[in-house]
Amino acid sequence: MKIMSINAGSSSLKFSLFEMNTKEVLVSGLFERIGIEGSMYTIKYQEFKIKEEAELKDHADAVRILLEKLIELKIIDSLEEIDGIGHRIVHGGSEYTESVMVTNKVADDILKLSDLAPLHNPAHYLGIKAFQEVLPKTPMVVVFDTAFHQTMEKENYLYALPYEWYEKYAVRKYGFHGTSHRYIAKKISEELGRDDLKIISCHLGNGGSVTAIKDGKCVNTSMGFTPLAGIMMGTRAGDVDCSVIPYVMEKEGKSAGEILSDFNKKSGFLGISQFSSDSRDIEDGCKEGKENCLLAQEMFTRSVVKYIAQYYVELGGADVICFTAGIGENSVDARRDIVERLGVLGIKLDLEANNVRGKLSKISAKESSSLVYVVPTNEELMIALDTLDIVNR
Ligand code: AMP
Repeated sequence: MKIMSINAGSSSLKFSLFEMNTKEVLVSGLFERIGIEGSMYTIKYQEFKIKEEAELKDHADAVRILLEKLIELKIIDSLEEIDGIGHRIVHGGSEYTESVMVTNKVADDILKLSDLAPLHNPAHYLGIKAFQEVLPKTPMVVVFDTAFHQTMEKENYLYALPYEWYEKYAVRKYGFHGTSHRYIAKKISEELGRDDLKIISCHLGNGGSVTAIKDGKCVNTSMGFTPLAGIMMGTRAGDVDCSVIPYVMEKEGKSAGEILSDFNKKSGFLGISQFSSDSRDIEDGCKEGKENCLLAQEMFTRSVVKYIAQYYVELGGADVICFTAGIGENSVDARRDIVERLGVLGIKLDLEANNVRGKLSKISAKESSSLVYVVPTNEELMIALDTLDIVNR
């Protein structure tokens, strides 16, 4: 069976087509600058890569070209070979606790939740509509970033704010990267042959979050009402006392929206280093002894350690700590710096084993009290697996 995994952004559409028997990616790619001048697409299959300009007025244009290309490149012989389409959806509110088949109500709900994810949900809705137009008979499933975190207890997802804000406006912690954390939990459970695990999953990429998982269910997570909260990130601040907002608004004569945009786009590694949001640049800067890079790297380490330590206590220990996403999978130094601070808990790395990139590997020392693993994430495959499961039901 073949399943397509889709991630639609406001001006982009990312896709992967999986052969589900082998979990192999048959073709993947990206349509960019949809509705903007200079639109283009990239398609990768086998050892080939196509990069072309094309007029993409809207998402429907991108979907039409994508499907034409799949036939033209002989990746499939007919569109009927696509057994299902899975869409990544950032926000499912409190209502969606798992992946579901797309119905008119589900699509409308996703649009209604735009209030909570204004940059993402309207784009996801456009992606769904574009596929419905061209492939009206193909079953479609939606997979929510927030769904995995819906098992958190109220004590963990509520903010100590006026309760009626929760009741009237759904102000609470939702958590994000849920599809990635769920994939990590599944993968490490398969690897260790156990479901009854206490896992601390560290998704450290340009965006980052740490999640506490017990018996496959989320107990707590570091992101909040939006993906701004939690650990320090590439351009996002992570946790900050919100009194800073009105204070700087007055000092700089900016609106709340402008300050929030600075929190999202000009903070984190970029804000502290003052030159880059990319952890590779920061690590290079550290090697050259650049003070702001050393500071940024240390702040990042401490912010991750703070959450791991909190969740270690909340879970009553940890069987395994997993590192994933760009930094987690690839940065030997970041993992070393983080785990070094966990020595007080008896957690210890095998420095040689830690010298690994992008590969499922055990990196803890024999005597470590918790296992430590690098687990490459695969959100696209998780979306395809959910889709297959629901289509088959
Ligand atoms: P992601 O959002 O998961 O794509 O992760 C992006 C982040 O991963 C960026 O900060 C990259 O600098 C970082 N990253 C990717 N490869 C490496 C690497 N080899 N060493 C350190 N950081 C890396």
